[in-house]
Amino acid sequence: MVASHVIDRPLVFDAHCDVVQALCDRGVDLARRQRATHFDLPRARAGGLGAQFFALFADPAHYRGAAAWRRTQQMLAALEAVAARHPDRLALARSAAEIRASWSQGRLAALVGLEGAHGLGSGDERRVLARFGRLVRHGLRYLGLTWNNSNALAGAAVDGGGGLTALGRRVVRACQCQGVLIDVSHSSDRTAWDVLALVRGQIIASHSNARALCDVPRNLPDDLLRAIGRQGGVVCANFYPGFLDERAFGRIAQNLRACAQKTREIEERYQDAPSRRMEAERRLALTTMRNVPRVPLSRVVEHIHHLVRVAGEHAVGIGSDFDGILLTPKGLDDVSAFPRLERALARRLPESVVRGVLGQNLLRVVEQAESVA
Ligand SMILES: [Zn+2]
Repeated sequence: MVASHVIDRPLVFDAHCDVVQALCDRGVDLARRQRATHFDLPRARAGGLGAQFFALFADPAHYRGAAAWRRTQQMLAALEAVAARHPDRLALARSAAEIRASWSQGRLAALVGLEGAHGLGSGDERRVLARFGRLVRHGLRYLGLTWNNSNALAGAAVDGGGGLTALGRRVVRACQCQGVLIDVSHSSDRTAWDVLALVRGQIIASHSNARALCDVPRNLPDDLLRAIGRQGGVVCANFYPGFLDERAFGRIAQNLRACAQKTREIEERYQDAPSRRMEAERRLALTTMRNVPRVPLSRVVEHIHHLVRVAGEHAVGIGSDFDGILLTPKGLDDVSAFPRLERALARRLPESVVRGVLGQNLLRVVEQAESVA
């Protein structure tokens, strides 16, 4: 039987959610409504969410080398456990066909993405490729080359890193062979250009905005947007106020500088208690969002409108970054708010374009990658 929502609702497919961290560290129950996360299954359903990429992310402040690889596996296992516990509500999906099947059954299709290749751990090429292969066997569908730290594969946007390394090129080729998308969010512009020279139709930016509207390194300049669109890729808009609005970014940066001393104190005090250190850091991070101007939902629409105009209507998606961000735009408080975004988009863009942005474009690029492989 086809669930009734399939007939009248567009597919909402979000390219980036970080809730697996809360799943691992705080043991949140995603089957119940949560207060301290943006994502849970009841609100995902209320928001009409049909498919979600969950990021596996090893914070390099806590996990490096072998520990980073252990963390990646821990997060993967946590996500798989949710799917095993709630097969009627969430199913791991590896292909466009499996996404469509879950959607038609009224189950959330869960896809696996890696945020930052340092999460593959260190070691020689053979080891890195073997770990990559293990993730692919467990459903990995995109590989984010970097997080904020440059690594053995590629340079990041915010630490002055270069482009792809020789190992990075090998891994990008391995992605092509396996139908895994290459994600350039967090990467340097050089890295993104290097990837564009190697692949076609397999590149995404899972959670980045337009630098023309908010001039920060994590966003993409127009020439890169155009090139990604021309090659059949997709750029997914991020809800983080600091990447939507330069004033919000400036205030957050100021707050971060002001609490640098406290960060060092926490590091020293909880040297031997990593989970308490993480909790203290989380509480401190929340204070850095104080006095940050609330960015309206309409600002997300402005970014999407710009991305559509420059990259093309088939090259834009949604990458909320929910649970990876400590502040959301006004009116986009959690995963239940997607219908509100849809209505706001519908006032500026034709219905077919809105459907593409909400999910069909990302679905297409997943399918494209499969067919190239
Ligand atoms: Zn991120």
